Amino acid sequence: APSPPPTRHHFSDPAEVEALRRNLLAWYDRCKRDLPWRALAATEPDADRRGYAVWVSEIMLQQTQVATVIDYYNRWMQKWPTLQALAQASLEEVNELWAGLGYYSRGKRLQEAARKVVSELGGHMPRTAEALQKLLPGVGRYTAGAIASISYGQATGVVDGNVIRVLCRLRCIGANSSSPAVIDQLWDMANALVDRSRPGDFNQALMELGATVCVPKAPLCGECPVKQHCRARCRKLFGKPAPVPDVEDCGVGDCPLCPPATEPWDSSLGVTNFPRKAAKKQPRAMRTATCVLERRGCRGGPEYLIVQRPSSGLLAGLWEFPSLPLAQDLQEEKEREVLADHLQAWMGQPVAAKDLRFIGEVIHIFSHIHQTYVVYSLPLDGDVTLDPASSPSRWVTEEEFHASAVSTAMKKVL
Ligand code: SF4
Repeated sequence: APSPPPTRHHFSDPAEVEALRRNLLAWYDRCKRDLPWRALAATEPDADRRGYAVWVSEIMLQQTQVATVIDYYNRWMQKWPTLQALAQASLEEVNELWAGLGYYSRGKRLQEAARKVVSELGGHMPRTAEALQKLLPGVGRYTAGAIASISYGQATGVVDGNVIRVLCRLRCIGANSSSPAVIDQLWDMANALVDRSRPGDFNQALMELGATVCVPKAPLCGECPVKQHCRARCRKLFGKPAPVPDVEDCGVGDCPLCPPATEPWDSSLGVTNFPRKAAKKQPRAMRTATCVLERRGCRGGPEYLIVQRPSSGLLAGLWEFPSLPLAQDLQEEKEREVLADHLQAWMGQPVAAKDLRFIGEVIHIFSHIHQTYVVYSLPLDGDVTLDPASSPSRWVTEEEFHASAVSTAMKKVL
């Protein structure tokens, strides 16, 4: 079928595309941040190790800031410098190193995929975005494109949150940027724009631009290397859409990329009119009672009892203080009783609700859950014998607690 005619949302002028690539790459060469995985990807002769390093960094960077990731990445690569080393690690070790980084299933999936590469693919990473996405569990379209372009030089685009923002602004795309139709268009655009000779650098440059210049709230348009190609900026400066020679004007009301007619351009927002998202769902509120059981250890200092969570679901396989989800709107007295009952069943010895000391509440926001931990403590004399059928548990000193695979929320609780 013939392709639809280009509109003002597309890059239809080859000379402009060339200029945009040139300007963006020149800026990247001057201003790029020094990051350990970039250094390795640029100098490592072993292609599998390059792919592995970029893969680890990309998985860590999903949902986590660069500044936080650097230290985790360095420790990870020191401990498991190759896919083969990671494949031999235990899940417990992976969780311990990942502790505090959040979204724990990422580490687990990474390790499962490394095992697959070693056992089923002869220890070699797939070399194209298509094969990476197909063969590696946990590797989606974005991660596959990033690994293939940065490690193997495949001319394939990437679309992440930063790229969405930059492209929507460059081309005044105001339809819901999380809708499949817009995302498909952005992938087509990223694949068409990517520089054929330096695809990895081009993709990183586009993401870097979104992370450091074309930021969500107050973009630094004056310093932007692609400002002359930016239609949102033009619209802000001249108060009307940029005139684009030889392209179709968007039809009023039926353009799938224009802002909805009910929410037209708001001049007080300037370029931040773009991108637009559907309203976010409110996180679910949850309350969980948690009890810090404490005893005097053999060296005189306190020790705490931690138990392991189930191997699937939220915070899978991590350790925590004995905890119990609570129904909403329970009275404090009732909360204390249900927690005492839970501990009693678990420890096989009487626990009086009045002995549980209320310490306070800790609030922790997971991506989709607004969690309130209601924290109690219970000092114990001597040991407790736990039902062997219940979850694994162990006593730890404070130092051991911090070295264990525990979530940031549990550290706040302690
Ligand atoms: Fe983003 Fe401004 Fe650059 Fe446009 S000119 S791409 S809005 S920073």
